[in-house]
Amino acid sequence: MRDKLIVGNWKMNGDLAANARLLERLASEWRGAKARTMAVCVPAPYLAQAQALLAGSAVAWGAQDVSEHGAGAYTGEVSAAMVAEFGSRYAIVGHSERRQLHGETDAVVGAKARAALKAGLTPIACVGETLGERERGETDRVVARQLDALVETLGIDAARIVVAYEPVWAIGTGRSASPAEAQVVHAALRARLARAGVGGVAILYGGSVKAANAAALYAMADIDGALVGGASLDADEFLTIGRA
Ligand code: PEP
Repeated sequence: MRDKLIVGNWKMNGDLAANARLLERLASEWRGAKARTMAVCVPAPYLAQAQALLAGSAVAWGAQDVSEHGAGAYTGEVSAAMVAEFGSRYAIVGHSERRQLHGETDAVVGAKARAALKAGLTPIACVGETLGERERGETDRVVARQLDALVETLGIDAARIVVAYEPVWAIGTGRSASPAEAQVVHAALRARLARAGVGGVAILYGGSVKAANAAALYAMADIDGALVGGASLDADEFLTIGRA
């Protein structure tokens, strides 16, 4: 069985005082179960705080996005090298909120994953279909297109990424994909990755994961953990999801 990875995506939430309470609890209470890794992806301004409070604990940290560019005249952007300087292990790329609200294309997401790898980060590359795409029976085609763009950009280095299947209709809605629904997509992604020679890539599920549904999702053969949004802001809930 592959190791499990549980990653919190704080999105644009937090402040120094609330972060400290959450990070201190994770640092002291997450013991680092065998074959289980916990991480939090925080807003970039809080990377230094995450580093200060999590260093030496079993909890890893990272960012929610990186620029596809290395350095230069890109006002407002944060490079992967900057994120790495704060001891980060991970960077989410291609979250559906970035694709939808910031117009990130498959090509941009591929370039961001490449930039993250170059800086020594593990990109957590998100793929997933909208409700309309699911209802039109386009799920396989959409996630395959998103995955292929990553594999084409990265080549054999795609073996070093983590993929997160996040159906857009399940993000922040309280309506998770059922374990069986998610497993169907994960198995298809796994087969596609295997055909590209990178079948060992971890595939996380994301979309309204909670303490109540985490164990059933982890029990699926091709679900290697969770990318957790809202529930990762609550220490008790996130720790329970981690231990599920
Ligand atoms: C996410 O933001 O990646 C996510 C899965 O959000 P939520 O868990 O809140 O649905």
